[in-house]
Amino acid sequence: MTAIGFIGLGNMGAPMAANLIKAGHQVTGYDLVPEAVAALAEKGGRAAANAAEAIAAADIVITMLPAGPQVREVYLGNAGVLGRARHDALLIDCSTIDVDTARAVAAAAREAGFDMLDAPVSGGTAGAAAATLTFMVGGEAAAFARAQPILEAMGRTIVHTGLAGNGQAVKICNNMLLAISMIGVCEAFTLAQKLGLTSQTLFDVVSKSTGQCWALTGYCPVPGPVSSSPANRDYAAGFTAAMMLKDLRLAQQAAGAVAAPIPMGAAAANLYQLFVDEGTGGFDFSAIYRFIAKSQTKI
Ligand code: NAD
Repeated sequence: MTAIGFIGLGNMGAPMAANLIKAGHQVTGYDLVPEAVAALAEKGGRAAANAAEAIAAADIVITMLPAGPQVREVYLGNAGVLGRARHDALLIDCSTIDVDTARAVAAAAREAGFDMLDAPVSGGTAGAAAATLTFMVGGEAAAFARAQPILEAMGRTIVHTGLAGNGQAVKICNNMLLAISMIGVCEAFTLAQKLGLTSQTLFDVVSKSTGQCWALTGYCPVPGPVSSSPANRDYAAGFTAAMMLKDLRLAQQAAGAVAAPIPMGAAAANLYQLFVDEGTGGFDFSAIYRFIAKSQTKI
């Protein structure tokens, strides 16, 4: 059994912490939202009144926070993790944040004598609940080896991607590719319908052809062909369009920092921005199908 301090018990953090409890670990949790802390206690965890209390006795500190500013605050702020954690604690940030912040916080942790990993995830809330997440982990090999059994209680695929920040780098590349492929799939369905094809016919052929990709076969954005897709439940998220836009902006930011041209990533970011500006950021990211289909109807 490992003593784990878990900060950030939202849509992802709550089921991840619950899986750690199921695996026999002692989890002490904190979130700004008191109901989230109470829900953890109901599942067998310990409720903390603040972040310092959650991590005071922890062998391992895990954070699952919205974005870079919250990660900076929780680790570097007054009464933050670096000032309050046990000197031998391993720190793991599972949030999706910008590469620069991940590297800056890891460097500050190292300076304060801690091992720290960035370990963002793929797999969404369903993967978090089922403990089938993919973890992309940046940091020293010895810290990765120490984290692996803990991450295995929350995920199925755990990959060491190199030094600090590399987990975030992989994550934003993956999500940029996912957004681009989702938009491509939506365009193909829209065109097919205009050419007189049914969605099912296009799906049946393309899912066995060279256009096949996960956005089509695992998460089809039109209602019908894939029963588990958000398209069949009025695009209830899943992974929201607002979160996808956040990740596309992170990709833009990272590409700007290394002067890497990502024109398709930029186009995807612009399209998701237009979509979210319509007040639709809370829908699943595959709902961009409606936006693309509607735009093409106007032409
Ligand atoms: P969420 O908003 O549901 O949860 C974040 C939680 O952090 C909230 O409960 C919030 O109250 C808490 N929080 C914020 N600041 C805090 C602070 N200073 N101290 C303590 N708690 C604080 O978000 P989520 O969907 O759980 O996502 C978390 C991270 O995981 C994000 O970076 C997101 O990009 C990433 N992610 C999400 C998904 C998904 O499908 N939801 C998938 C993969 C990755």
